[in-house]
Amino acid sequence: MSIIKLKNVSKFYYSKGVIASGFSKINLSFNMGEFVAITGESGSGKSTLLNVISGLDTYEEGEMYINGEETSHYTEKDFEDYRRKYVGNIFQNFNLVNSYTVYQNIELVLLLNGNKKKDVKRKVIDLIKQVGLYKFRNTKVSKLSGGQKQRVAIARALAKDTPIIIADEPTGNLDSSSAKAIIKLLSEISKDKLVIIVTHNYEQVEEYVTRKIKMHDGRVLEDKKISEVKKIDERKSAKYKDITRVNKFRLGFRNTFNIIPKFLLIFAVYLFITIAIISEYASFKEQEYIESKSGENYIFSNISDKRIVLKKKDNSGFTDDDYKKISGIENIDYIVKNDLLLDSYINITDDSNFYLGGSVNNIENFRGDLDLGRMPENENEIIIQGSEDDYYLGYQGKSLLEHELYIQNQFNGEVDKSSKVKVVGIAYNKNTQDYNSILYMSDKFINKFSFEQNQAYSKIQILFMNKYRESNSYNTSFGIVSNSHVPKGEAYITSDLSYECPWENCINQTLSIDVNNLYYNEKLDLRISRTYDKRNMQNILGIEDFDSNNGLVYINEEDYNNLFNKANYQSSAFVIDPMKLDETLTELNDIGYKTLAIKDTLVSYGASEMIRIMKSVVTIILVIVLFFISYFVIRVILKSRNKYFSTIRMLGATKKVSKELLIIELLTVSNLAYFSFIILIYLNSINILNIGFMKTILTFLKFSDYLILYIIITLMSYLISQKFSKKLFKKSAMSTIVEEV
Ligand code: ADP
Ligand code: MG
Repeated sequence: MSIIKLKNVSKFYYSKGVIASGFSKINLSFNMGEFVAITGESGSGKSTLLNVISGLDTYEEGEMYINGEETSHYTEKDFEDYRRKYVGNIFQNFNLVNSYTVYQNIELVLLLNGNKKKDVKRKVIDLIKQVGLYKFRNTKVSKLSGGQKQRVAIARALAKDTPIIIADEPTGNLDSSSAKAIIKLLSEISKDKLVIIVTHNYEQVEEYVTRKIKMHDGRVLEDKKISEVKKIDERKSAKYKDITRVNKFRLGFRNTFNIIPKFLLIFAVYLFITIAIISEYASFKEQEYIESKSGENYIFSNISDKRIVLKKKDNSGFTDDDYKKISGIENIDYIVKNDLLLDSYINITDDSNFYLGGSVNNIENFRGDLDLGRMPENENEIIIQGSEDDYYLGYQGKSLLEHELYIQNQFNGEVDKSSKVKVVGIAYNKNTQDYNSILYMSDKFINKFSFEQNQAYSKIQILFMNKYRESNSYNTSFGIVSNSHVPKGEAYITSDLSYECPWENCINQTLSIDVNNLYYNEKLDLRISRTYDKRNMQNILGIEDFDSNNGLVYINEEDYNNLFNKANYQSSAFVIDPMKLDETLTELNDIGYKTLAIKDTLVSYGASEMIRIMKSVVTIILVIVLFFISYFVIRVILKSRNKYFSTIRMLGATKKVSKELLIIELLTVSNLAYFSFIILIYLNSINILNIGFMKTILTFLKFSDYLILYIIITLMSYLISQKFSKKLFKKSAMSTIVEEV
């Protein structure tokens, strides 16, 4: 039985509505051991016939039998199967992978057909020796001469050990001596195979072939036996499996790196995508963050995003132990014990036309560098941090330094001439949008303001001569003031009140002070031990200005502290890294404090939600645009890969395997690009590099963000490979190969 038999087989081409005949009504049969030469003028149908026999092309009429089996019902898959089992092709233009070495080209076909790398080594080397290229085994095919390339192609066709070898003009591109050697090699092979070659030069093959077929105009003109063929019955078809997973990755990686310029170009594209997506995401996050901390708030005036307002869960006062515990948290920078000061507004003035105000903070909490002047050296010296755009701080900053100024009482607006301050240093806000000012002062002033604060926020009632009197800081009537001249447990009141007491004598009467606020009630009974008037005030209290102080109740400092400065019930902690604020809040909650992050109290401006949506849309559009740009760029770069993929398909790679190889190749590059960029970011984080936008990325992205971005970029790379391979493999493998042939 013949291995191949054609019965009245015709092949037509349909192109642009015109039917052309490839060949018609061919009747031929081929046996093992034959070395068949097909000749005929150009266009006579030789290539078409070989393609049909090879299973690279279909036929329209008649029947082709393979090993006696009809093939007219064969699907594309059946023909692929047939090719893998039976046919080794040698092409005029070699169809080798130029970027592979000789060894790799021959190994390729064996790997694609399911062999293990180490199992094929011997065989590949033997084949290379057989075609006389051992010296060149590690040379890239692109460096070989035409004759050498054709010998590689033959070795490759032999590697799979198929019963049929088909060669379309294998010597067409060779000089006559190389051609002779190739023909001789093929004739040796044909001893136990069927070898069919097409040639223009019959003289060249005459002495080797066993049969000559001459074609003319799509028909067989002559079919002549030249010499007798030994009968061979063995028709062992080649065994094959699908490529192993390891080899799939091996080939994928080989393809990634074996053409360096191509690798670099694709790498550059992916690096660009990676940088664009990550930076865009980081700036999106930055924007979101800036918006989250911008906004308005009518309760707090210090709206730093680093501020956390703290209370104890049982509403008791903070102790030193509490402060120690809070400071122990890594992200805590400093604590402002009486945080109400942060939200008060203190003015300093020259008492005529110049006012400069801001919230108050302790000098110890000042961070950063001064832009003008020096740090304070004594307790009356202060520094101011504020906007450079502020007229006094910015333009007049220098002339402000070293001048003595007064503090205005935050509650009654009066200028307190007894407390002079001197501005000795100015620092400008880093953020030019930040118009807040902070006055950094010594403990002396901080304590003074604290008392004023506590007094102002408490309801103070004074029971005097069986009548309750309201006391507040806004006027002098029954205002409570501490004074070092007054002994503990006693109170000095104005003699103006004497008319309320029996016999106009208030001495030894009781005056009770009742302080009531959010956190505590404190009641103190004091004995009135003296009364003051315009004449004795300086003497007994050390105060000159009777008129502006008349009416105040003077008490001992310790008593005063007991009433108004019992403890801090509300403090604020400032964090080092506002990006880690949420973690810090959790930690504070865990160790027993009620927390309020200032950024959460802000009411943002109405438009921002709209802007956010717009930004998200822009980001998504950017990703899509990037996808298409990179797809088209990569498509152009990979255009040269068409030949590679048609070659491996011809060698036995299925559509699926070809696609997977492409995906491995592109994913390898995209991963490399991604991780290269991550390394750059890392080098920034340890200050080996100092690239601005990477610093932004570092600040705003968390591990989970990197993970999400990794998934997005990998997915994008995957989709690009998918889209490209779909286009690449849209045409059937056969037509791609035939075109190449
Ligand atoms: P040969 O190899 O003997 O030079 P071919 O087999 O290539 O001849 O061509 C045989 C005939 O089929 C020619 O008339 C040619 O024009 C036609 N033909 C070959 N390939 C195609 C094709 N892809 N589309 C249309 N016509 C084709
Ligand atoms: Mg041809």
